[in-house]
Amino acid sequence: MTIVPIRQPIDGRHRPMFIGGLWVEAASGQTFETRNPATGEIIATVPRGGRQDIERAVAAARNAFVGPWSRFKPHERQKLLLRITDLFERHWEEICTSDTTDMGLPIARARGNANRVLGMLRYYAGMATALHGETIENSLPGDIVSFTRKEPVGVVGAIIPWNAPTAASIWKIGPALATGCTVVLKPSEEAPLTPLLIAELMAEAGVPDGVVNVVTGTGAEAGAPLAEHMGIDKIVFTGSTLTGQSIVRASAGNLKRVSLELGGKSPVIVCADADLERAVPVAAMSVFANSGQICIAGSRLFVARSIHDEFVERLSAYAASLRIGNGIDPETEIGPLISPRQLERVEGYLRAGSEEGARLVTGGTRLSHGALAAGNFIAPTVFAGVSDTMRIAREEIFGPVISALPFDTLDEAVRRANDTPYGLAAGVFTRDLATAHQLSRRLQAGSVWVNTYHAIDPAVPFGGYKMSGYGREGGGEHLGEYLNTKGVFIRID
Ligand code: NAD
Repeated sequence: MTIVPIRQPIDGRHRPMFIGGLWVEAASGQTFETRNPATGEIIATVPRGGRQDIERAVAAARNAFVGPWSRFKPHERQKLLLRITDLFERHWEEICTSDTTDMGLPIARARGNANRVLGMLRYYAGMATALHGETIENSLPGDIVSFTRKEPVGVVGAIIPWNAPTAASIWKIGPALATGCTVVLKPSEEAPLTPLLIAELMAEAGVPDGVVNVVTGTGAEAGAPLAEHMGIDKIVFTGSTLTGQSIVRASAGNLKRVSLELGGKSPVIVCADADLERAVPVAAMSVFANSGQICIAGSRLFVARSIHDEFVERLSAYAASLRIGNGIDPETEIGPLISPRQLERVEGYLRAGSEEGARLVTGGTRLSHGALAAGNFIAPTVFAGVSDTMRIAREEIFGPVISALPFDTLDEAVRRANDTPYGLAAGVFTRDLATAHQLSRRLQAGSVWVNTYHAIDPAVPFGGYKMSGYGREGGGEHLGEYLNTKGVFIRID
C-alpha cells in the first residue's frame, strides 16, 4: 500500500485510488487503462478495484462516520464545503481539462459549467446549517414532549456514469458532506480521473480521512459489491435503467435506501406558435450537447405539422454548422463519444433508423477524416419521417441523434409524448401562456422546460417519473434523501 499525504502521486500515467485518506492500489494489484476518446490515446492507468477494495473503503467510511466526522458540527461542515468550493474555483481549469481529456466534453462547455457546479457546492454549504427537526404537539396523556431529529443515514455508496463526472460526483458527495454522511464513490470505468482529482481537492480542503473514498473499477467487479454491501446504508445511483434495476435487486439484502437517476427518451413539443429563432438552437442542443450523451436529451422532437418542414430544415442547417473536434480546442462545440463501443452502439441506431424507413436529413455517419479518424466522432444527425414505433423513437440512443415527428393536435402530442416507459424530462416551445401551463401539467416527467432546456438549479429538485428513477437531486428533498427522521418522546411530568 502506498501512503502519500493528500496530493495524488502522479507516477508517470498511473493514478491510484483513494481509500481512508490514502492513495492505494487494488488488492489484486490489477489496473485498467483510460483513454482520451478524441484521440484514442491511453492517458492513465488506474487500479481495477474489486470486492476486497470495496470492503476496505466501506470500513474506512464507517470508521469516519462513527469517529471524527460525527463530531463535526453543521457550521464546521459548512466551512469545509465553502473551502472545497474555493479550492474548486482555483483548480477549475484543471477539473475542466480532466473532463475533456478523459471523457471528451468540449472544454468551452466544461468551463461554462463552473457556476452550476460551484453553485451546487455553495447550496449544500448553506443547507448544512439549515437542517432541523420539528417540535410537534401530541395528544398523549401526561406531559410528554415530542420532536423529530434529522440524522445522517450513514455510509452512502455512490455509483456514477461517465457522461458528467464532475457534476455527478458533486451531486453525490455534496449532500453527504452537508448532512454528515460518509461516501464510497465508484466512478465509471470509462471516466475515472476527475472523481480522483475531486477526492484529492477535498482532502486538500480538509475533509477527514475516510469521509470521501473513491474506488475505481468496473460495474461488475466494484459496483455490484458496493450495491449489495451490508455495511452500506444507502445507494445513490446515476446510470442506465437496466443497471438501476440490478441495483434495486442488490439492495434487498439489508434493505438499504436507494435513489436512482436513470435513462430517458424525452419529448420536446414545438407548437405552431413557437419562436423558431429560439426553439431551433435550443432543441438542437438539447440533444447534440455532450454529443447526445445526456440523460435528458430531447431526442423525440414533436413538431406541429404546419411548421414541421421549415423546422426540420432549420434544425438540420444548425446541426450541420456545429464545430466538431477534440474538445481541448476552445472552438469545439461537439466532442467525441466516450468509447468505440458507444460509437458502435450509436452506429447501430443510425442503421436501424434507415432500415425502419426514417428519412435521414443530415449527419448519419461516423466522422473519420483527418484527426477525427482516431476518435469516436459521429455527425449530429436528424431523422424525419419517424414513426412512434421505430427503435430510434423508443430507445435511449445516448448519441447525437434527433427524431422529428409531426403532430396535428396538442392532445395527440401529449398522448404520444407520454407514451414511453421513461419520464425524466420534457420540453415545450410556445408563446401561449395557457399552453405552457397546460402542457407542463400534462407531461409525465420530472422536469418540464418551456422555451428553454437543460435548466438545472441546485435549489430545484431534479429526477425521474416512471422508469427514469426515483428520488430527487437538488433542493431540500435532495438533502432529505441523506437523512433519517427520528421521532423522540420525553416524559417531563
Ligand atoms: P451504466 O448503467 O452502464 O453505468 C453506470 C455506472 O454503474 C458505472 O459506474 C458502472 O460501472 C456501474 N455499474 C454497471 N453495472 C453495475 C452493476 N451491476 N452494479 C453496480 N454498478 C454497476 O450507465 P452508463 O452507460 O455509464 O451511462 C449512461 C446511462 O446513464 C444512460 O442511460 C443515461 O441516461 C444515464 N444517466 C442518467 C442521468 C440522470 O440524472 N437521470 C444522468 C446521467 C446519465
